[in-house]
Amino acid sequence: MKNIVIFGAPGSGKGTQSDLLVEKYGFKHISTGDVLRAEIKNETELGKTAKQFIDNGQLVPDSLIIDILAATYDALGQCEGVIFDGFPRTIPQAEALKAMLAERGTAVSAMLELQVPTEMLVERLVNRGKTSGRADDNEETIRKRLDVYESQTSPLISWYETEGLRNAVKGYGTLQEINDALCAIIDKL
Ligand code: AMP
Repeated sequence: MKNIVIFGAPGSGKGTQSDLLVEKYGFKHISTGDVLRAEIKNETELGKTAKQFIDNGQLVPDSLIIDILAATYDALGQCEGVIFDGFPRTIPQAEALKAMLAERGTAVSAMLELQVPTEMLVERLVNRGKTSGRADDNEETIRKRLDVYESQTSPLISWYETEGLRNAVKGYGTLQEINDALCAIIDKL
């Protein structure tokens, strides 16, 4: 079973490419953003707490997200592989993921990093905001999320490099070109 981390800034195309990989390989997809948005919709206690962070462009505290991640992973059951989308976003989360998978006798197989220039990210997210209905897809919050990515999430690039798991891919061009580049890496795992 493969455990693949799809990594990149907000708007880098992680969700779109995850859907294509799910279709091609039959993997299951865990998007922590989707999990949190479902909690908000269902008005759970967790959702109420998470909403304050999300609407403000900040990360939800590690302790909250790590617990949900483990529960979501265990609920998937047997499958060909899992794509982690939007998780990990901090070094403590990457360490927790490593430990959680080790406890289950498995490990991250690869980290796939989608590289997209910042101004292209802003443009994509502003456009997405016109139809996504997401409260955090407005220019002010988008810029905050990108700052949070730079300060808290991008250090994971060298963390995964040190683990020998990092694979960088050009995250712009056609969807097919990007997908082909990701599949070429996955096919070698
Ligand atoms: P996303 O859909 O991945 O862009 O996530 C939307 C928002 O959910 C983020 O801006 C964070 O506030 C929150 N979130 C999603 N995943 C995580 C995570 N792994 N750690 C902390 N916060 C997260």
